[in-house]
Amino acid sequence: MNKAFFFDMDGILFNSMPNHARAWEEVMTAHGLDFKAEDCYINEGRTGQDVIHEAVLALEGREPTEDEIWDIYEEKTRRFYELGPTYPIENVDKVLRYLRKRECQIWVVTGSGQATLFDHLNEAFPVEGKNPIFARERMITAFDVTKGKPDPEPYLKAWQKSGLRKDQCFVIENAPLGVRSGKGAGLTVLAVNTGPLAPQALYDEKADFVFDNMTGLLNWLQTNV
Ligand code: CA
Repeated sequence: MNKAFFFDMDGILFNSMPNHARAWEEVMTAHGLDFKAEDCYINEGRTGQDVIHEAVLALEGREPTEDEIWDIYEEKTRRFYELGPTYPIENVDKVLRYLRKRECQIWVVTGSGQATLFDHLNEAFPVEGKNPIFARERMITAFDVTKGKPDPEPYLKAWQKSGLRKDQCFVIENAPLGVRSGKGAGLTVLAVNTGPLAPQALYDEKADFVFDNMTGLLNWLQTNV
């Protein structure tokens, strides 16, 4: 395994951003905080805790307590699940299968702090045979970092644990702040623009490549990996 691919989750593995945006807007509004669905796309990649911290600080000029942050975050997670299931991004399963065939390391690097994340991944991307695509030891979540994206820490942690050189590691991201995190870690970033923002937002953060969809990414991988 001489290459590693660090997959972001929301907007890369799952078409979950529309429901996240709606859940955030509803819960923040219920708490009297100013946060619209479109703010979700601009903030995408940051941990929920960071987003809540900043919203409370901006509106009330004070630091929220840890309990307050987790209460709001739990409420947001509950609301997100009430909105119904989310499904894999179209053709991302083909990307994963291709990389597995090429014996690449496959990682998940996400700001999510959902306890059921690992089970959800293996349900959504089942494989025949005994080797699952995802492994607990190849996941970096909100629980593993002190600073979330756009800080480089999540991708630096994944790189350190991979045991590979930086030029053997690739970040797959859909959000500008996620691209910033990957580039800050000194890694090659393959951006796939699955959301409503203009592709320029990803180039502005110095993404090495920007693809319109997973088919574009797969074509690149088939030539380069
Ligand atoms: Ca994302």
